[in-house]
Amino acid sequence: MRDHDWKDHLQTDSDPIDLAMVFNIQRFSLHDGEGVRTLVFFKGCPLRCGWCANPEGQNFESELFYDNRKCIGCRSCMAAARKGELEWDDGIRIRRDNVRHPERLARACPSEALTAAGEEKTIETILAVAERDRVFYRDSGGITLSGGEPFVQPRLAKGLAAEAKRRDMGTAVETCLAIPWRNVEPSLPFLDKVYADVKHVDAEKYATATGGDQTLPRNNIRRLVESGIPTTARTPVVPGFNASPEELDAIAGFVAGIGIGELRLMPYHKYGEEKYRLLGRIPPLAGTPASRPEDLTETAEDLAKRFGLRVGIGG
Ligand code: SF4
Repeated sequence: MRDHDWKDHLQTDSDPIDLAMVFNIQRFSLHDGEGVRTLVFFKGCPLRCGWCANPEGQNFESELFYDNRKCIGCRSCMAAARKGELEWDDGIRIRRDNVRHPERLARACPSEALTAAGEEKTIETILAVAERDRVFYRDSGGITLSGGEPFVQPRLAKGLAAEAKRRDMGTAVETCLAIPWRNVEPSLPFLDKVYADVKHVDAEKYATATGGDQTLPRNNIRRLVESGIPTTARTPVVPGFNASPEELDAIAGFVAGIGIGELRLMPYHKYGEEKYRLLGRIPPLAGTPASRPEDLTETAEDLAKRFGLRVGIGG
């Protein structure tokens, strides 16, 4: 992994306020917020959760997806490559640590076997996409900042949320909260809703599975509640990590105890696995079976009853 130390990548006052590194803008989503949403996926995350659905959102810089099933063997990429980036051995071998501009190699590939994950975009460019969705927002839709972790790019997160609000769009964020509070707080006046991860209540298990320190998200979610911003807790329910009845009880108890009224249980799925492979990485939870939403129905009803929460399943 090229750039795990996320603290080196936090935006500073000298960074341009309106340039974001994003890896996708997804239109017409019916998940991840009220009504129809335009999802903006920020690149860069402090955590490395094995169940991540968007591993291309973890690193801070643009990187290459390579799908060898689409490769037609034309070698155009070899001609475009700088020294040390690619080797040819009955197909391409990517020296990922040497690739500085994935877009150059992706542009050279006629069959889209190589594509770049990550592109710098301005607030204006992002909102131009959202403006095309606006007619579908009606009273409740809007943009949702997602990722990766949006608050790793706090100046952009705030700038985007503020401009969307000025245009009278709904605004929400999905966050792991494993980020200093000073990154989170400036955006709050411009956000209608926060979806905050509660992955586990055991610090050691959290650290082992995510690579992060649970102190930050625990403190931050309390501060969110104190700030009065509507907050929904979200728990990815992952077999072998937090899916036992005792662990889910502890999570629901924590959520109810700090005064959050809604918990969403996110069934474990395998959407991220193929992306890990396209990035040249091994999916950390490759052997773990996916679960279906209906597998969590009884648990959701039980937690709702015992902890006085609204408990839903999925986004
Ligand atoms: S340019 Fe694309 S299709 Fe051609 S050899 Fe390279 S990866 Fe394969």
